[in-house]
Amino acid sequence: MSRGWEKNIRRVTPYVAGEQPKRKDIIKLNTNENPYPPAPGVQKRLDALEPENFRKYPDMDITDITNALAENYKLEPEQIFVGIGSDDVLSIAFLTFFAGEKPILFPDITYSFYDVWADVYRIPFEQPKLDENYRIIKEDYYKENGGVVIANPNAPTSIGEPLSFIEDIVKHNQDSIVIIDEAYIDFGGESAISLIEKYENLLVVQTFSKSRSMAGMRIGFAMGNKELIQAMKDVKFSINSYTMNMPALSIGVEAVNDVAYFEETRKKIMKTREWTRNELLKLGFDCPRSQANFLFATHQSIPAKEIFEKLRENGIYVRYFNKPRLDNRLRITIGTDEEMKKFVEFLKGIGCGSI
Ligand SMILES: *Cc1c(COP(=O)(O)O)cnc(C)c1O
Repeated sequence: MSRGWEKNIRRVTPYVAGEQPKRKDIIKLNTNENPYPPAPGVQKRLDALEPENFRKYPDMDITDITNALAENYKLEPEQIFVGIGSDDVLSIAFLTFFAGEKPILFPDITYSFYDVWADVYRIPFEQPKLDENYRIIKEDYYKENGGVVIANPNAPTSIGEPLSFIEDIVKHNQDSIVIIDEAYIDFGGESAISLIEKYENLLVVQTFSKSRSMAGMRIGFAMGNKELIQAMKDVKFSINSYTMNMPALSIGVEAVNDVAYFEETRKKIMKTREWTRNELLKLGFDCPRSQANFLFATHQSIPAKEIFEKLRENGIYVRYFNKPRLDNRLRITIGTDEEMKKFVEFLKGIGCGSI
């Protein structure tokens, strides 16, 4: 039997997302979701939706969310690109900006979707190693390249770098597009948005999934100079014009406009994070300071895999990566105070504190 078509298939190894258990009684600390509901106005917007309108195609220019973001971040609407979660936005950015021949650069330990996009789009890449403390070595990104991608704060390490550090990387790469993935920036980091006016090679990407409690609605956005944003739109309109659905377009606006609620919930999460980190240190964990909504912990005597499995059997899900340099670490999303107390009590129960 001839299977000539096989050689025409684009073979890829897909990204593996954290588990979404069907059970409702799980303490879910494995995918960096926000433990608090979205802004209260979201419900009103949902109640006001008229299914009659679903007959029509949605606003392909995503005008309302774009304008709300422009006002919030003091940018022009033409400097903002909105997509279906930042995964979609990043994917379009890879496709748009990394069409060159030189390898793009991103750390060996970072968001594990970058190498997947590079593979699927046939973009050559190199992955400079983080140092022994899981820090990015900025000089590694000063060589010739076809583009640079940095998650700041980085994942799964939770470590953020100051704006001056990010600026150095952008400044040394003015012949490449530098993407700064700020999925976790609202939990204490310094955003590179302020550098957009100064560097036309900078693209800053953020998401509604973490700090705005809307992973389920799939909204993400990129900010950069008008030319970069227009190039991304041209690619988007060459693939799928109507990317966002009507409910997401409507409630996304509310998530941006309710600044007070946004401030309240992100601060609560940072406070719970500091409490949890202190408790973990007392229990014999090593855990870098986090600027994200998760912690990156290793225990001085009990292997991470063992802790991960015991937690899981007892309905507490955290993330474990069976990969070099990560296989003795746990990535623990910050939940509510109550969830984190239960988590810490459980760790005590399995002997983490008794050494
Ligand atoms: C969560 C995350 C994203 C993607 O989030 P979306 O839900 O697609 O917006 C992108 N980058 C990093 C580093 C993340 O952790």
